[in-house]
Amino acid sequence: MSEPVHYEVEGAVAWVTLHRPEYRNAQNVAMLRALDEAYMRAMGDDAVKVIVLRGEGKHFSAGHDIGTPGRDIDKAFDRLATGWYPHANKPGAEAAYVREADAYLGLCRKWRELPKPTIAMVHGACIAGGLMLAWSCDLIVASDDAFFADPVVRMGIPGVEFFAHAHALGPRKAKEFLFLGGRMSAADAAAAGMINRVVPRDELEAAVRDWASRIAEMPRFGLALTKQAINFAEDRMGLRDTMDAVYGMHHLAHAHNTLASEDYIGGQDVSSMKKSLEDK
Ligand code: ZN
Repeated sequence: MSEPVHYEVEGAVAWVTLHRPEYRNAQNVAMLRALDEAYMRAMGDDAVKVIVLRGEGKHFSAGHDIGTPGRDIDKAFDRLATGWYPHANKPGAEAAYVREADAYLGLCRKWRELPKPTIAMVHGACIAGGLMLAWSCDLIVASDDAFFADPVVRMGIPGVEFFAHAHALGPRKAKEFLFLGGRMSAADAAAAGMINRVVPRDELEAAVRDWASRIAEMPRFGLALTKQAINFAEDRMGLRDTMDAVYGMHHLAHAHNTLASEDYIGGQDVSSMKKSLEDK
């Protein structure tokens, strides 16, 4: 089996690549674990100053795995980000609450707070769980063919677990993004302030490389403190508290779905979600 995340270091830059291109880099826990290991490797290597996260194949990431043969939601795993106890043998709403607190919300929060600068290099689809990987990076550079969507309201759920929507887009645009659930172009995402830069597809890597090498000239500790300072400001603006509150709503929605239809994602699957994005 091929590794779900590839890792290479070039000079001061670690290139971390999501590598399930046959499934549009859909995220199972095996991939998230490998991504965490890659980030930890970059933190432990003094030669690495900046980390780039990108996706192999046609898309950055189509989101959490809701239907590939490697889907592993019922599988027990060692805790990745938090002290939560194992989820897999728990009844009712507990299993999903515990699993997502660790593997989804917990990991993305951990990655947002990594002490080295991270750049998401986004092309193609960046959907739902894909947003979480991009948003937990410091900078987002996208190609002009990139598009963004959080269609999980269709599942009856108020957005993905790492609820940064109102901060990433501003409240008005965040409502448009969630209520309509359709695609947002890279140009519109840049205009809303959600991403830093849009460049032509064939210039994406060079643009990211240029920023990464310029950032790498800054002192390591200065970068770490600057990142902490901005994250601190963002948390004082309410990001962390909002995520805590909305995580409860998110799991009310999962539990409601399970009570009402016995399916925690409201009867949606890969093809219905994919179709909902193609129609618009
Ligand atoms: Zn969820």
